[in-house]
Amino acid sequence: MNEEAELLRQRGEPVIHLGIGEPKNKAPINAILNSAAKLNTGDIKYSPTDGIPSLKKAIIRYTEENYDKVVDPENIIVTSGAKQAIYNILYALLNPQDEVIILAPYWVSYPEITRMVYGSPVFVTPEDGGLRPRMTDITEAVTSSTKAIIVNSPNNPSGLIFKEEFIKEIVEFCEKKQIYLIMDDIYHKLVFHGKKAVSCYEFAQGDIDESRVISVNGISKLYGMTGFRIGWAIAPTRLVRIMTNIQTHTTACASVILQAAAEGALTGTQSIVENLRLTIQNNRDIIIQELRSFNDVKTTEPDGTFYCFPDFRAYEPDSVKLSEFLLKKALVVTVPGKEFGMEGRLRLSFSGSVNDLVEGVARMKWALDPSSPNEIYIGDKKMIRDWL
Ligand code: PMP
Repeated sequence: MNEEAELLRQRGEPVIHLGIGEPKNKAPINAILNSAAKLNTGDIKYSPTDGIPSLKKAIIRYTEENYDKVVDPENIIVTSGAKQAIYNILYALLNPQDEVIILAPYWVSYPEITRMVYGSPVFVTPEDGGLRPRMTDITEAVTSSTKAIIVNSPNNPSGLIFKEEFIKEIVEFCEKKQIYLIMDDIYHKLVFHGKKAVSCYEFAQGDIDESRVISVNGISKLYGMTGFRIGWAIAPTRLVRIMTNIQTHTTACASVILQAAAEGALTGTQSIVENLRLTIQNNRDIIIQELRSFNDVKTTEPDGTFYCFPDFRAYEPDSVKLSEFLLKKALVVTVPGKEFGMEGRLRLSFSGSVNDLVEGVARMKWALDPSSPNEIYIGDKKMIRDWL
């Protein structure tokens, strides 16, 4: 779909992208200055595989400030994006056929990474038809082959923050059953209207080296620095050592220039995080308001991230068909719910401009809702709806 959209865009068609999860901001100045300073030294070599010590120090401070948890440098591995952290974790943990519980709706890479390392994804969909995972569904899916459970809150694609009670239960369950709990916290500071994503460490027992909790984080969403490709994992030392071995033989280390950028962002002024959060919160309020004008679209309001995951079943139950239809007729890019393991929904990203959000939803409404006027301008072309 992205390729098709790109072709249309290259042809000069006024495509609106509600598919991409990437804020529009510029990189923080401290990130730019720190990486430029490193580059200027001309001394650009390998770093320790698990990360530059001063960046690890910044991550330790970040973890203390945001999770109220003190970790050692040996508990941290710096990776080329949170994505690589998750890959390294699953590569380190899984033997062929080991199972990983993935909670639908889920980020598309979890099942793919699990399969790439010969593990077996086990999908758990809330039996009540909702978007919140339920412990009863999860415990039923656990077998003697379950090695890990991945939890992503705030969640891509639903935007929901999972309740404190759920996090408490799943941490305690995993520690009791000796199952690794991978907390993908990449969106944990991108939260709205006073909501807060609870820290998994609040419920973990004892020292991190005895714990089964692993957290994953990064600068992509926190500072809108997706292209810098720096993430990290915090895990028991024995696991960090295995992940470091894996990294030694794959990428050697994350680029030192980009690690310097991450350190600059983490140690520089943090007002950018709040500015970004406020921009995205405003976008969130706008898209929710626009979606309310649809008669039959049900949207669970996101607590965080830059996604919402409305239910379009009243118009079309097949999300791939619907997404293709919207691209063809309205030139709006969306992501089908099927890709996140949940049919009948579309993921809409509100990380783009306010104009795109308002016009994107208006075009979708025109294409789908018979109660909306049947004429619309798309670019400078007047379009008439003749299919409803
Ligand atoms: N986890 C989730 C839930 C994500 O949405 C993304 C990015 N789309 C990532 C991890 C990967 O982040 P990074 O850019 O740090 O690899």
